[in-house]
Amino acid sequence: MQVITSVLVLALFFIVFIISDIRSFKQRKVKNMIGVAQVIGNNTVSALEFDRDDEAQKTLMEVNTVMPEIVHAEIYDRNGNVFASFFKTAKDSTSVFPALGNKKSLIQNNHLYVSSDIISGENEKLGKIILESDLVELQKMNNSKIRLAVIILVFSIGFSFIIAILLQRYISQRLLRLVGSMKEVEKSGDYNKSFDDEGKDEISVLTKAFNDLLHKVHENQQRKDQFISIASHELKTPLTTVKGYLELLERNNSTPTEKQFIQKALKNANKLDSLIRDLLDVSKIQSGQLKLNLQEFNIDNLVDETIASNQLAFPGHQIYREGQFGNERIFADRLRIEQVLNNLLSNAVKYSPHEKKIVVTSTKTPAEYIIKVRDYGIGIPENEQANIFERFYRTKEMPVSISGFGLGLYISRDIIRRHNGKIWVESQEKGTAFYISLPANNVVKPNDTVQP
Ligand code: ADP
Repeated sequence: MQVITSVLVLALFFIVFIISDIRSFKQRKVKNMIGVAQVIGNNTVSALEFDRDDEAQKTLMEVNTVMPEIVHAEIYDRNGNVFASFFKTAKDSTSVFPALGNKKSLIQNNHLYVSSDIISGENEKLGKIILESDLVELQKMNNSKIRLAVIILVFSIGFSFIIAILLQRYISQRLLRLVGSMKEVEKSGDYNKSFDDEGKDEISVLTKAFNDLLHKVHENQQRKDQFISIASHELKTPLTTVKGYLELLERNNSTPTEKQFIQKALKNANKLDSLIRDLLDVSKIQSGQLKLNLQEFNIDNLVDETIASNQLAFPGHQIYREGQFGNERIFADRLRIEQVLNNLLSNAVKYSPHEKKIVVTSTKTPAEYIIKVRDYGIGIPENEQANIFERFYRTKEMPVSISGFGLGLYISRDIIRRHNGKIWVESQEKGTAFYISLPANNVVKPNDTVQP
């Protein structure tokens, strides 16, 4: 844009400059030639008065030596007859003056024609002189000016191009840095940031606006987190009481119908309880207070127990186990790893309403312990797989009948990361496979002694 603008401005400047230069050159030329015609006219007054055409002819010939651009000149007597004439070359002898009418000058086909009356001392019109001069000089001058303008234009294009590239690099570098920062914030979800830009131009204004936006988002996030934390704490106590009374009622002698109602109420209270526990976990993660209670345990036992409890809770599905870890013991937070496995297994059940098979595979490599939970359900679109570990994220095409809050995987990812492990998802031809990997250096061999 900068290059185009400067080239256009420069080209416009040259056009105006050349046109005005040509015009003033023509005006000067016309004035000169009229002056010359008047001088010749004055010098031929006596020749006309005494009918001395040879004198007039001589004068015309002399003028040519002074003004070589005159190619054709004619003096007419008072009757309009040619009195004397001059042709610079034989070729010019065929030249005929265009009709000048009352005009004193005319420019046509690169030739200038001027006409002047020849007046005697008594103010009597004795005749007329017409001069024709070649404007080839003007043409040459124009050509050289245009050539010069083109050369200057080409150089200025190159020069402004170099300046534009340097400036653009400076501008785009700052813009790209800002875009990079935005992407980083978007990826990390950490809005408690601000970016420096010392300048005073539009990019600095943009950076400031971005910083203000980040600040606002961070404030809102803090308010939301605070609300979630307070609300879940406030809900926890009454719900524990409700659950306690329901369990008491279930144990008491009640009719089968009453028992059925109580069990339904308990089931829903448990659902609510699990949501509140998730919300409390989220608050802990946000405030950095989710602590691990590390202990030594047999990882195979944990996998078997978790499968067994889920199989009991979801009798409609078949959960298979493939592979073993060889009864190795790992050093980790048993309850939290169990929570992650429970979440993956309950998701596998929840998101495969029509396919009953679920496979849990254990694989051991020298560096890590990998547990894979594979289902054959609705699957997760490729473009959403990166988002499902974010807080409150649920896939867009989710059937409305499948309930959830989008918290389980967020909490699971945090738990696994705190164990220096990894959690990820892979697309399958049908369904989904979730993986968790725990580093082998967290593992305690049967004979090792562990200092918690
Ligand atoms: P919730 O299941 O309560 O919505 P999660 O955090 O456990 O929350 O899961 C986040 C989202 O990931 C789910 O809403 C769902 O869209 C998708 N998802 C998780 N597990 C599976 C699965 N096994 N199959 C298909 N989609 C899944």
